[in-house]
Amino acid sequence: MGNNQKRVIDKPYSTYALNRAVISGLCVKCPKCSQSSIVRADITNIYFSCTNCGYSKIEIRTNFRYQLENQCKQCGRYYRVSISNHNKQNLSVCNVACPFCNYVMQGKVQKTPSFIYTNDIKNGCEPFFGLELWFLANFKGKTVWALNHDHLVYLIEYLSADLREKPFDANTMRTEADRLPYFMKSAKNREGIVKCLKKMLEK
Ligand SMILES: [Zn+2]
Ligand SMILES: [Zn+2]
Repeated sequence: MGNNQKRVIDKPYSTYALNRAVISGLCVKCPKCSQSSIVRADITNIYFSCTNCGYSKIEIRTNFRYQLENQCKQCGRYYRVSISNHNKQNLSVCNVACPFCNYVMQGKVQKTPSFIYTNDIKNGCEPFFGLELWFLANFKGKTVWALNHDHLVYLIEYLSADLREKPFDANTMRTEADRLPYFMKSAKNREGIVKCLKKMLEK
């Protein structure tokens, strides 16, 4: 092994998952002026804004997950249960039974936006407003995209490295690169994909 090989340490799984990336912001093409603009989300809303033409939009997030975490006072085990009852979902606290011993106790209802998987990027568009991603290209008939600048830099670094390592010792655990489609990682495409991604960086 030569010393001039470029090594890269992969990121933990889901580092650039859509639901995380949208918190810092997704780069999209403004539907009014076609310049680079941002789709961003917090726990309650999705925002679109274009600093070039001033166009903006806000939408309320509708998909939430309701969960409750407790340490059972009877059996001592920790558990997390989903709250599917609509009446209970609107409460700040409610009673649930321990899934291990059925002991009923109160807990705090946690409301979080539901998980959105990366395959929710369809035809190069984000799922919130359906806007086209800014970092988007076609490679041998397949769509290659990055959610934002950080994600793009990650993809370039990861795919252009000679040696790819996992971010921790446990080799059985999944890492961010496990979410990449095979055609991007395959040895025959990698160089072309990296070129394609680098071109996006110049946009
Ligand atoms: Zn605009
Ligand atoms: Zn219990």
